[in-house]
Amino acid sequence: MKKRIDVLIIGGGLAGLTSAIHLSKNGIKVTLIEKSSYPRHKVCGEYVSNEIIPYLDSLGAPPEKLYPKKIDKFLFSSSNGRTLTSDLPVGGFGVSRYALDSYLYSIAKENGCEIIKDTVLDVVFEKDNFSVNTEQNSILNAKIVIGAYGKRSNIDRKLAREFIKKKSPWLAVKAHYKGDFPEDLVALHNFKGGYCGVSKVENDNVNVCYLADYKTFKKYKNIKEYQENVLSKNRHLKKLFTDFELVFEKPLTISQIAFDKKKAVEHHILMTGDTAGLIHPLCGNGMAMAIRSAQICSDLIISYFNGTIPSRAVLEKKYASSWNLTFKSRLRTGRLLASLFRNEQLSKWIFNSLAIFPFLLPLIIKKTHGEPVTHTS
Ligand SMILES: Cc1cc2nc3c(=O)[nH]c(=O)nc-3n(C[C@H](O)[C@H](O)[C@H](O)COP(=O)(O)OP(=O)(O)OC[C@H]3O[C@@H](n4cnc5c(N)ncnc54)[C@H](O)[C@@H]3O)c2cc1C
Repeated sequence: MKKRIDVLIIGGGLAGLTSAIHLSKNGIKVTLIEKSSYPRHKVCGEYVSNEIIPYLDSLGAPPEKLYPKKIDKFLFSSSNGRTLTSDLPVGGFGVSRYALDSYLYSIAKENGCEIIKDTVLDVVFEKDNFSVNTEQNSILNAKIVIGAYGKRSNIDRKLAREFIKKKSPWLAVKAHYKGDFPEDLVALHNFKGGYCGVSKVENDNVNVCYLADYKTFKKYKNIKEYQENVLSKNRHLKKLFTDFELVFEKPLTISQIAFDKKKAVEHHILMTGDTAGLIHPLCGNGMAMAIRSAQICSDLIISYFNGTIPSRAVLEKKYASSWNLTFKSRLRTGRLLASLFRNEQLSKWIFNSLAIFPFLLPLIIKKTHGEPVTHTS
């Protein structure tokens, strides 16, 4: 007899693992499929907004246990090295994805979630049920499927999602360094064709992660040359790359990062985290959005299983509208900021205006973040 799976989650990053914990805690049978093993480093700025602390605490997964760095200050530098500083309105913490994802993985397992290491190849919806095919030739059936497989995956191609048809001009590089950097600060340094986030994580390493446009990047032979010739034109980054010692054997890279609009529900799959939409990294809110979308999705799934939500159609409609209500304006602000900073003249003008009216900076940051949410089922 085939095993009963209520909810199958594709992808065990922050969104997938959070839903796995939330649903398992509420007695729902969850199977999660993740293609890589834990712990592992990920390309990410590793600054997490405080808005998700009350929710993670309520799931029995307090980030505090990882001894993250408490961050409440922000420094922004323009490509010519001028700086602006501000307090962060909500604040955040610095923790590596190496520690955070494997912490949530252990908690999901403790709560009875089944986690399989495999790669999902295809998802088919038929007769009100899903059938999910994997690389190791398993076919799993489930009532509900959550797509939490990140920015871009083979599954998007299978599902013929709109955004995957276009090439994206963005790539990202990340590495940990040893060096002198304040614990309570997240810095965002602008350079021609991109921006670089710098902050400390739990073990005193400094995480350096930048988004760069491929057109400029490909003019150089390798990362070192690119950093020396492009990023180092900003004196703050020059100092960092000269003084700091690389901890990783070599930096991690990813390409084809797309910020196009996506849908929160496709082919009846409830998409969470980056699979539903990716905010520009300069906002430092993608991880909080992944966790918050997992919360919204899980609460609705629980209502569906206990009969408060009467049908799949209502579940899908409610999820899509809650997702839009919670995230649409953050994403829009992120897109607007990114396009303004891409334009050299405009970005100079914004910088000068912020220098004259410094109170505007925390207001802009607030527009890309949410409020802390405590309640959960
Ligand atoms: C350069 C850069 C810097 C960033 N900096 C920050 C920051 O400072 N702060 C912040 O809050 N956010 C930041 N973000 C955003 C943040 O990294 C993401 O929003 C966050 O990782 C989303 O989590 P997720 O769970 O949706 O996806 P992920 O964490 O990417 O998890 C997806 C998982 O799915 C798995 N998977 C994929 N395909 C399959 C498959 N077919 N079968 C099985 N498993 C599969 C993957 O292995 C992965 O583990 C940054 C992003 C970038 C690109």
